[in-house]
Amino acid sequence: MKKKVTPCRPKSSRYFQRARKHIPGGVNSPVRAFQAVGGDPVFFQSAKGAILEDVDGNRYIDFCASWGPMILGHAPKVVRDAVRNAAGQGTSFGTPHAGEVELAEELCKAIPSLDQVRLVSSGTEACMSAIRLARGATGRDGVVKFDGAYHGHADGLLVRAGSGAATLGIPTSPGVPRATAAHTAVLPYNNEDGFSRFMKKQGRKIACVIVEPVAGNMGVVPPQPGFLQALRKETSRYGALLIFDEVITGFRVARGGAQSLFRIRPDLTVLGKVIGGGLPVGAYGGRRSIMKQIAPEGPIYQAGTLSGNPLAVAAGLAQLRALDSETYQHLEQRSFELETGLHRAAQKHGVPLVMNRVGSMMTPFFQKGPVYDWSTVAQSDTAKYAKFFRGMLDRGIYLAPSPYETLFVSRAHTRAHIARTLRAAEEVFCEM
Ligand code: PMP
Repeated sequence: MKKKVTPCRPKSSRYFQRARKHIPGGVNSPVRAFQAVGGDPVFFQSAKGAILEDVDGNRYIDFCASWGPMILGHAPKVVRDAVRNAAGQGTSFGTPHAGEVELAEELCKAIPSLDQVRLVSSGTEACMSAIRLARGATGRDGVVKFDGAYHGHADGLLVRAGSGAATLGIPTSPGVPRATAAHTAVLPYNNEDGFSRFMKKQGRKIACVIVEPVAGNMGVVPPQPGFLQALRKETSRYGALLIFDEVITGFRVARGGAQSLFRIRPDLTVLGKVIGGGLPVGAYGGRRSIMKQIAPEGPIYQAGTLSGNPLAVAAGLAQLRALDSETYQHLEQRSFELETGLHRAAQKHGVPLVMNRVGSMMTPFFQKGPVYDWSTVAQSDTAKYAKFFRGMLDRGIYLAPSPYETLFVSRAHTRAHIARTLRAAEEVFCEM
């Protein structure tokens, strides 16, 4: 076996020292910090295909994929060309323009539950706006979310959130008014009976139930058979709206999102980073009868200066138009190789590992499993993940720096990239 050469990152360390001076914690989003895995975050200078290059010139096979959106890999030519062309026409108009119409049409064509969409600039904004719409449309205040899910950092959603907040060990964030949080009920994921019991008592006060149809923010947790159907049935029964947060799953698990995979029609859908091809875009949409209640057509207010930004919309359209059936086949094949290969390597070295996967999103949980909700996710050996992460980083493989995140496979990952990743994993497992 080739001797590993641990990458040296002096420039990265210097950037981190500078960053810490003027940026809280040295990062612009807490999930980028290495608190859960130890060491300093790596600073990057470029990304192309499946490869990230750090400021010291070290190269890594990337499975973080900017936390999901880079389905085609980094900086594919179609997206670069689209952004370059769009930039030549102006970077922001603050007026209606052709690109946003085309993106809205593309989204409504791909996802049948969408008659109309409103574009925004982030997943947080989209979730927050969809909830306001649900509250305005139903005249109710109550919101249900699920333990371990993450729907952005708006007040009222940062209630025992997963993702960054779970990693940092802050069940609720200071600064969220108690009164706001009190409107949010947090229920266990994949617990149909618990949900039905809750709705029986509280259903008529609930404006909406927001769910990641495949959870990705406590690591990947697929919905158990019947769970999403129960959400659909009970919300309809009590007049609450069902919101699918497809910020991660939209266009990733299937072109039509998780809702097409599981054949459920939510009332509202939230989309995010994927539809911007790596530029800042989000969207929320649904039936015309609900969407028409948003300003200016209706009274429920929501707005954004940079919403539908022409560069972001051009990048998103270019990426979405390139997602053909061959792309999804490729994602499935490479993802299957990675999932089964990691599992086999772990078994060989006696490392307990559960691989949860839906399409090109997966998470290695260091435990015996099964892993089906936040309480079972939390039984994972986080120290083992940290060891795995650092071992892989040293061997030129970049994973999400947290045990409760998703690993993403892209169109740019080749069989050779997967094979190299598996060789690295085998070395790391051998040392665990
Ligand atoms: N919803 C889900 C399911 C997400 O995964 C995220 C972010 N990872 C968000 C909402 C928030 O999106 P953003 O970070 O773009 O605000």
